[in-house]
Amino acid sequence: QTETDKYVIDDDLILKIFQPRQEFAHKGTFGKSIIVGGSYGKIGAAVLATKSALKTGSGLTFVLAPGCGYEVLQTICPEAMFINGGEKYIGKIEEQEKAIYGIGPGLGTEKETEDALLEFLQNHHDPVILDADALNIISKDKNRLKLIPKKSIITPHPKEFERLFGKTDSSFERSELAKTKAKELDVFIVLKDHYTQVISPGGKVFYNVTGNSGLAKGGSGDILTGIITSLLAQRYSPLNAAVLGVWLHGRAADFAAEKYSKESMQPTDVITEIGNVFFDLN
Ligand code: AMP
Ligand code: MG
Repeated sequence: QTETDKYVIDDDLILKIFQPRQEFAHKGTFGKSIIVGGSYGKIGAAVLATKSALKTGSGLTFVLAPGCGYEVLQTICPEAMFINGGEKYIGKIEEQEKAIYGIGPGLGTEKETEDALLEFLQNHHDPVILDADALNIISKDKNRLKLIPKKSIITPHPKEFERLFGKTDSSFERSELAKTKAKELDVFIVLKDHYTQVISPGGKVFYNVTGNSGLAKGGSGDILTGIITSLLAQRYSPLNAAVLGVWLHGRAADFAAEKYSKESMQPTDVITEIGNVFFDLN
């Protein structure tokens, strides 16, 4: 590994990646996002991810969640369409054409959900975004790692990373292990931390420097999943969706911290600030 394989995600890189919205476009141009998540007691995670996908510009947004989340989701996210995946827990993940799936926020690890996820992955071969309990379900058996579609994006925090790939002694070793695994599985790994790293299958590492400790709260990661799902649906490449996604998420968090303080800012405030980040980009 050489120095040239390491990059900081700076404004120049972001301006190269960012695509202004085409004026003569229609909703089909901006893709179809499906957030798969939520379970009894964790519907909020699905709300956060769905709202974030909407706020990032997805053309059509769906949320596949258990029926117990129906009223809440339809009320807080009226722009999103609801797909019933079960009663209290998801027990079936239906396949829709040409949709980008962001799976995991608040999903839970019930047996019926585990079976539904594994069946879905056995039949789905386009890139997906996997986070949270989707990763925890995969971690239960190392043979499941190869079910992850090629060029997918996985977004583990350090503990989820450890469950997936084992313990490491330092953040340097964790990063090295992530490079090996990204190559082996042909996936992009978003290693979430204070400085989040996006690691490509080719061994490139992109360091994100936006964001702050106001994000160290439950719900922050769900927002990132919604953002990256939305960008991938809008036809950014998996690498660009991950790089622009982590930068956007952190930048929105920095705006939220300025307004509300790192202590008080809520993940919901971060979602609200996504719009101001786009103002700056345009
Ligand atoms: P999760 O643990 O899945 O909710 O994800 C937490 C999100 O917040 C990730 O995107 C982290 O990078 C971010 N985050 C958490 N703590 C910090 C911190 N101290 N500084 C910057 N970003 C953070
Ligand atoms: Mg999380």
